Amino acid sequence: MKSVGIDKPKTLKKVEKPAAPLITEPVVEPVVKPVVKKTLVSGIKPTGQLTLGNYIGALKQFVMLQDELEDTEFFIFIADLHAITTPQDRQELKKNIRSVAALYIACGLNPEKVNLFIQSEVAEHAALGYIMESTAYIGEMERMTQYKDKKVNQVEGVRTSLLTYPALMAADILLYDANVVPIGDDQKQHLELTRNLAMRFNNAYGETFVVPEGFFPKTGARIKSLTEPLKKMEKSAENPKSYILLLDDLGLIRNKIKSAVTDSDGVVKFDLKNKPGIANLLTIYASLSEYSIKDLEKKYEKSNYATFKEDLAEVVVDAIRPIQKKYFEIINDSKLDDILTAGAERARLLASRKLLKVYKKLGLGRIR
Ligand code: ATP
Ligand code: MG
Repeated sequence: MKSVGIDKPKTLKKVEKPAAPLITEPVVEPVVKPVVKKTLVSGIKPTGQLTLGNYIGALKQFVMLQDELEDTEFFIFIADLHAITTPQDRQELKKNIRSVAALYIACGLNPEKVNLFIQSEVAEHAALGYIMESTAYIGEMERMTQYKDKKVNQVEGVRTSLLTYPALMAADILLYDANVVPIGDDQKQHLELTRNLAMRFNNAYGETFVVPEGFFPKTGARIKSLTEPLKKMEKSAENPKSYILLLDDLGLIRNKIKSAVTDSDGVVKFDLKNKPGIANLLTIYASLSEYSIKDLEKKYEKSNYATFKEDLAEVVVDAIRPIQKKYFEIINDSKLDDILTAGAERARLLASRKLLKVYKKLGLGRIR
């Protein structure tokens, strides 16, 4: 049988050491692409417009990692199946899906490097999600704090999927043999569950899944609400003053920061317990600038909150302005559809292979 690996050096030998005059000709070297060894997976729910918390805790991390991790293939998705764990308006959902996709690109995600896709367009997510439900125990699901927190806000009844969606999240990750999962602090518990489910399945049926590691930002893994700084900033929160949206009017952003809840102490100091509002604003500032929290405490040692907030507002506006510009360039461009189509195709290829393997291990269907 002919082997490409053996043939290649022979071919190269023929053109080796050309006679002197040919030296000026460009020597054709085989293109050596870096060998992809690892996979990174992450997603964001299109449950509303994206917040500054999503940007600092997730999007900004993806962009940083895409340049850092050369040997890693990225799968970043819009988690629309996760969105329907709570009621969604059809038109709003459609808009939000596209908006999240465009924001990924606007924040700097490189479609050449990253497979960007919509979760529901890769049916294997739901299929493996069901297998993961059949791997997890109800008790494990009931312990998830996100479930406990979110179910209290449900007026129309708590959907079953709100309880079981961590199994779908496990599937999202395990389908692609993800090694790295960049997420905010609030997803730690779900990632731990994913690891347990992967190990449980592997123990029962033999090596099938890679056990993933979480990647958490050093600063900004949990940006807090501007109105209730003990709570997380969240896109589905009721009060629009509690969050900064990446697509908020720049003037509105300045006002939201100006009216952010602080304390009466007047000292710009990082103290999570006694000054959660100021601690949160310092975290946002440090995440979006070259300053560390320590640097900022020094810089504003003699300032009042008004000056500190004014400067922070400019830092936030400067970070968001170019994102908005890019967003409006891409949101109605058919290029965005091409990116999503290509991303889904690549994702489907890997996901279908993995699902087949899982079905086989379980004895499902007629797969030998
Ligand atoms: P929802 O209110 O619908 O739960 P959300 O704002 O919490 O929305 P998710 O879609 O649940 O957003 O999370 C997307 C990603 O953003 C996850 O990696 C999550 O950890 C991260 N993230 C969400 N909120 C924050 C925050 N306040 N600070 C840092 N990271 C965050
Ligand atoms: Mg959330």
